[in-house]
Amino acid sequence: MEFKYCCSICNKNFNIVPELNLCPDCSKNQQPDQPLLGVLEVKLKGIADETFAISDLLPVEPEYFPPLPVGNTPLWEPANLRQKTGFKNLFIKDDGSNPTSSFKDRASFLVSAFAKKFNINDISLASTGNAGSSMAGIGAAAGQSVTLFLPKTAPKAKLVQALQYGAKVFQVDGNYDMAYDISLAYSQKKGGMNRNTAYNPMTIEGKKTVSLELFKQLGQSNLNGTKLNKSELNRARDIVFVSVGDGCILAGVYKGFRDLKQLGLIRDIPKIVAVQAKTSDALFRAYTTGKFENIPTTTIADSICVDVPRNGIHALAQIKQYNGEVMTVTDDEIIQAQASLSRTTGLFTEPAGAAAFAGFLKAAPGLDPDALIVILTTGNGLKDIASASLGISMPQTLIHSVDDIL
Ligand SMILES: *Cc1c(COP(=O)(O)O)cnc(C)c1O
Repeated sequence: MEFKYCCSICNKNFNIVPELNLCPDCSKNQQPDQPLLGVLEVKLKGIADETFAISDLLPVEPEYFPPLPVGNTPLWEPANLRQKTGFKNLFIKDDGSNPTSSFKDRASFLVSAFAKKFNINDISLASTGNAGSSMAGIGAAAGQSVTLFLPKTAPKAKLVQALQYGAKVFQVDGNYDMAYDISLAYSQKKGGMNRNTAYNPMTIEGKKTVSLELFKQLGQSNLNGTKLNKSELNRARDIVFVSVGDGCILAGVYKGFRDLKQLGLIRDIPKIVAVQAKTSDALFRAYTTGKFENIPTTTIADSICVDVPRNGIHALAQIKQYNGEVMTVTDDEIIQAQASLSRTTGLFTEPAGAAAFAGFLKAAPGLDPDALIVILTTGNGLKDIASASLGISMPQTLIHSVDDIL
């Protein structure tokens, strides 16, 4: 397989080198407080059949991969939930089971490998919390040094996690957008590799592995052990619900399916439904108005709390091209969905992960109950217990003996 960078706007091709992050031509017109211009995608050239190894489709050789098990996350068949909702082909892809408990490990894994290949030992980034704790953990495994810029509002567990893995952490007196800008300035001055989402092309490319895994997990057989026939194979990738902040996971999901289509392994790109928090809905607004505005946002789902989606232009173009959809859910719906998912399935996901499920619940009345639906849960619920606490009631009294309650 051969790999090149390809500009998502002008389609110009470039060799894959660590000094290059954005298309040098298109990024010249970058405006402040706007999504990145000239995001680079990896373009592959070659052939593969359905027995491909995921690493065959990645632009960094396995000898550079960090030594920890990222991806291959389980695909749940939630029997109770299927029965309750009437969707018998509902699946949950649980990316909270990655080593640092979020989807971000897919991107950090490939960034780490890319840096290793070029003997770069320092990696820096901005994060709402998960990308940072992820890069910290994966950097620890690979022996790389990680510098992290976090907004002061990041949930404490994510900060502690990053420090636990030995990262150097700077807390920014502002939001994620401010951390993003500071981290770019930092790596421009200090060198090393910057892992900022969408800015480093390996982030989207690493995230595509989720779709390749879905192809393998759904394509070969379903989990009941019955082989799916050819027409079921295409419907098996019908609808994917994914929560969106910067739009980098969304783009990765599309990229994986587009690679599979290019290789002739699937016929259609599935419908992707992007779910945003109603109070942090920049992509949703741009989907309707065509414009990205820098409006201050806030949501309980901190991982998708983004004023300016850095991969907004690229993500929006994909949604339009492949007939995806963008929808919003309220914080209340997210917290309700988080609790109800846990109670019906045994899966505890953080609010951003629950947003995708809340989107499914909201859209369900308009969906074909036979459709094969995948919900991506992107982070573990223990990462933010303060938010989850809003959906439950804590014990109010202390007891001293069994007589107190009987
Ligand atoms: C980062 C993140 C998202 C959103 O991904 P984007 O690429 O920013 O759209 C969703 N859920 C969780 C748990 C995340 O950490």
